[in-house]
Amino acid sequence: MAQAKTIDGKAFAAALRGRIGAAVGKLAADHGLVPGLAVVLVGEDPASTVYVRNKARQTVEAGMASFKEVLPASTAQAELLDLIARLNADPRVHGILVQLPLPPQIDPEAVLDAIDPAKDVDGFHVINAGRLATGTRGARAPLVPCTPLGCQMLLRDTPGDLAGRHAVVVGRSNIVGKPMAQLLLQDNCTVTIAHSRTRDLPAVCRGADILVAAVGRPEMVQGDWVKPGATVIDVGINRIDKPDGGTRLVGDVAFAAAAAVAGAITPVPGGVGPMTIACLLRNSVTAACRQAGVPVPEM
Ligand code: NDP
Repeated sequence: MAQAKTIDGKAFAAALRGRIGAAVGKLAADHGLVPGLAVVLVGEDPASTVYVRNKARQTVEAGMASFKEVLPASTAQAELLDLIARLNADPRVHGILVQLPLPPQIDPEAVLDAIDPAKDVDGFHVINAGRLATGTRGARAPLVPCTPLGCQMLLRDTPGDLAGRHAVVVGRSNIVGKPMAQLLLQDNCTVTIAHSRTRDLPAVCRGADILVAAVGRPEMVQGDWVKPGATVIDVGINRIDKPDGGTRLVGDVAFAAAAAVAGAITPVPGGVGPMTIACLLRNSVTAACRQAGVPVPEM
């Protein structure tokens, strides 16, 4: 049976981080500009703590300034909003990321709304979401959510020209599914968004030249849901128990079965995941350049 090409997101992200590092070095040399990213963590959720540590480390490795703000889980919303106001006003900080999820006493929408859209490197502010939806380009182009941006970069590489292809995005969250659909539409795909109420999801998926799974259900997408030769992007990150104890990470796609049918597929781990932080760094450089009035470098 034919075997799909495995899309190596880890290598792609490493190359992207290399280009970002080079761009950051040039910005410092040519303009004295050091992009700064502030990451805010409220509480001690173990997964969030690891994400924040990785983001801070990769920011420094790219030659950028990293500001880490860790607040106790009991933090009141007003205190967090005060911190965001300070970061909005701090000229050393070009990007602000508030790690989700937040403790229950804090309304995430109020927090995301408070971030200056120009510093919203997660691309979750309604201004950025709205500009993505309206297809705004040029100086007012939105900052785009990192995970779908990473998927778009992978797809522009494999299969390449996306125009006219039928893309099916399974999942409609504001973080992944909806912005992913907007990016595919901008790349001239014919886009279907599927979700938990979609009828006959396997048949909908079988129509996809490009299938993006962003659901959060381990190995839900089966081999016979995949059109022969399709490109499959698996956004899911699910931890499942191993029969002999311990846990392992799997995506939303049954990898081996799908790889036997697809033309190309991202693995989990090592596919979309590494692209997310690389795109966060890319967004931070983009935000810094726009704030400083400096041309955004190719990355
Ligand atoms: P959400 O839980 O916010 O959204 C899940 C979406 O999947 C919803 O739109 C939901 O539909 C849909 N869905 C749920 N069950 C089904 C089903 N049985 N059939 C069809 N659709 C279904 O998740 P996120 O978008 O935040 O994340 C999705 C996955 O991506 C998760 O595994 C997450 O861990 C991973 N992720 C990975 C990242 C990375 O860096 N690689 C970054 C962000 C997320 P409905 O709207 O109808 O409820």
